[in-house]
Amino acid sequence: MFPKDNENRSFHPTHYWREIPNGDRVERPWLMYSKIQNAADCFCCKLLQSNVPATLGSTGTKDWKNLARNLACHEKAANHQRAFHRRKELEIRLRLTTTIDDQHQEKIASESLYWKNVLKRLIAIVRMLTTQNLALRGTSDQLYMPNNGNFLKIVDLMVEFDAVLQEHLRRVATQEMYTHHYLGKTIQNETIQLLATKVKQKIVADLKSTRYYSVILDCTPDISHTEQVTLIVRFVTTTEPSENVPAMVTVGEHFLEFIDIDDTTGAGMTNVLLKKLEDTGIVIVDTRGQGYDNGANMRGKNRGVQTRIRELNP
Ligand SMILES: [Zn+2]
Repeated sequence: MFPKDNENRSFHPTHYWREIPNGDRVERPWLMYSKIQNAADCFCCKLLQSNVPATLGSTGTKDWKNLARNLACHEKAANHQRAFHRRKELEIRLRLTTTIDDQHQEKIASESLYWKNVLKRLIAIVRMLTTQNLALRGTSDQLYMPNNGNFLKIVDLMVEFDAVLQEHLRRVATQEMYTHHYLGKTIQNETIQLLATKVKQKIVADLKSTRYYSVILDCTPDISHTEQVTLIVRFVTTTEPSENVPAMVTVGEHFLEFIDIDDTTGAGMTNVLLKKLEDTGIVIVDTRGQGYDNGANMRGKNRGVQTRIRELNP
């Protein structure tokens, strides 16, 4: 592990202790040798001294010729002794877990638990409202205001019974929040997006385990006259039978997403559909049915989406 004592030109294990006049050896627990840097330094001074002139306490020394003398000098220095005692004290405190760091850790843990509890409730509200197809926002984004929408109204209501949200709103009201309070429209939209991604992942996983599916596209302009396509998949799901419940077979249609369409020709729509399926991880060779509205771009015998998909998968 240690380089050979080459005529006192490198570090030697004997430096880890010193001999006292009666011949006994006293250990130097503070001394460290780095093989990579080929340098010796003092652990205590390096860790706990901000102002150390000696290289032993900072970058480490390679002065092997004078090492024995420098070590003896270093351990007598007042700076080193202070650092050594502080290190000892720290060691005892760590064993008793009464450090300042420990108190910080406790504070961080309780703060993280606080936020987990707050977010759990806010996400549950968003999930309930979206499941019920209810709008989240009203004309006002302020708590306790009339017409502040379903999301804030439920928060208002829960505060009457729930200690976690009570504390949260107290912090918001007294402006103890240094960052976000997670009640605004941005976080609501982000939560909806995260939940939607999860739902979509589940639908795609079910589809893949079933393998065969039909695809249904319907095209219609939205309020801003942008052509929108709804992408729907239809497949059979089978649940595993349990002791008292037989296997259940259901046919389900699942909405995947709205797609903005610029090119409404059969070729343009086919490309968009193929790209979407590929992005979602659904393969076109497993399609077993197609459903479209009456547009020529969709059902057209020669150049519609239906014909183009059939060419890929007869
Ligand atoms: Zn030292």
